[in-house]
Amino acid sequence: MGSYPEISFDNTEFAFEHKSDKELKKARFLFSTMSRQWLVKLGTRLTPWAIKSGIPINGLIRNTIFLQFVGGETLGETAVVAKKLKEYNVQVILDYGVEGGDDGENGFDHATKEFIRVIEYAATQSNIPFMSIKVTGFARFTLLEKLDHMMNHNSGTLMKRYLKAIDDLQPDEREEWHRVRRRMMSICETAAEKKVSVLVDAEETWIQDPVDALTILMMDAFNKEKVIVYNTIQLYRHDRLQFLKDSWAAAEERKFILGAKLVRGAYMEKERKRASENNYPSPIQADKDATDRDYNESLDFSIDHIDRIAVIVASHNEYSNLLATRLLREKNLPLNHPHVHFSQLYGMSDNITFNLAHAGCSVSKYLPFGPIKDVIPYLMRRAQENTSVKGQTGRELGLIKREMKRRHE
Ligand SMILES: Cc1cc2nc3c(=O)[nH]c(=O)nc-3n(C[C@H](O)[C@H](O)[C@H](O)COP(=O)(O)OP(=O)(O)OC[C@H]3O[C@@H](n4cnc5c(N)ncnc54)[C@H](O)[C@@H]3O)c2cc1C
Repeated sequence: MGSYPEISFDNTEFAFEHKSDKELKKARFLFSTMSRQWLVKLGTRLTPWAIKSGIPINGLIRNTIFLQFVGGETLGETAVVAKKLKEYNVQVILDYGVEGGDDGENGFDHATKEFIRVIEYAATQSNIPFMSIKVTGFARFTLLEKLDHMMNHNSGTLMKRYLKAIDDLQPDEREEWHRVRRRMMSICETAAEKKVSVLVDAEETWIQDPVDALTILMMDAFNKEKVIVYNTIQLYRHDRLQFLKDSWAAAEERKFILGAKLVRGAYMEKERKRASENNYPSPIQADKDATDRDYNESLDFSIDHIDRIAVIVASHNEYSNLLATRLLREKNLPLNHPHVHFSQLYGMSDNITFNLAHAGCSVSKYLPFGPIKDVIPYLMRRAQENTSVKGQTGRELGLIKREMKRRHE
């Protein structure tokens, strides 16, 4: 116990060691701009429209929000960022940013090939142990939505509801779903062969049940000895702590390691709006305290069952990150336990990432890359998440200003 370093997220020197004065100034400008709610509201509405209409705003995006939150447009550009992070013992979750493409079968096959290319690249790098995928990158959103809807009308366990829904699909849609499964299978097979882990992102609740079922089937197939596949659990949903426990019970029964990336959840407004418009109870917790309580309880549960669960603390919440380190210490487990990993989004909470790395934790940045038009939905979520001066933006700005002051005193 005595060998545990004291962890604090206040050290801005460690946090921003990797940034020049010029880069810090750019970040300060961006976070100040994003603190203007009206501007972000306008920007998040106009930008996707402007891109679609061919209005030349790519240069502006590339030099501002893209630069802050994205690794690059290509793998080559992103490799430069990944190498820089390696110098500070920070690992990378590589994310090819395509989502909800609905590009048709050719688009889905192309995205699958890209995911495989990312895995093959990651395998050649010592600090890229993970890559992330979105099932909407290689499956038709409306098919996922239909399956989810059918599953919700079936009874029994998740897997029973899933199998019955597949059976009830029209033959051409069943064939289409088999192609989705084959795409997922080929991604996971390559990942297992190359020893790179695949994190399956969670998206909207109305497509999540088939994504969960598919991911659990992959964990059952690939996670027997090593954890190759991770599911994402959104604790802003009031049913997810129980879902974590049910997933653990399935892992116990089927003898696989449960990969659990714990997040709070990124689609809160959209979820609440849809629930109220369609007159069904919101799947989201009543308030932030309830989300925090379930998030922290999930951490506790995961570390309590660390032999069977590999957990990723995917959060910018200082308390949750510290809690995870405290729980490890209490159980006399090393900070770099192979079943515990920490991660923050690239461009956010460097104070957490770099201070955890300094303390010897296994920690990464979630680093998306891709053509500007493909990463727009991701960037719009980051802009929305960073509008509150009281919340994340306030924290980021405060830290950047403190570091600038420290450097020039
Ligand atoms: C590595 C990584 C991977 C991620 N992958 C995914 C993913 O696959 N899917 C996904 O959805 N998100 C993902 N996220 C984003 C994540 O869900 C959160 O949006 C983001 O991290 C903010 O939560 P927090 O824990 O960092 O911090 P905090 O700032 O403590 O929490 C903010 C979050 O709390 C919740 N919240 C805020 N207000 C309320 C309220 N009134 N009632 C209930 N809940 C509230 C919301 O989820 C909000 O985003 C990922 C994040 C990281 C770091």
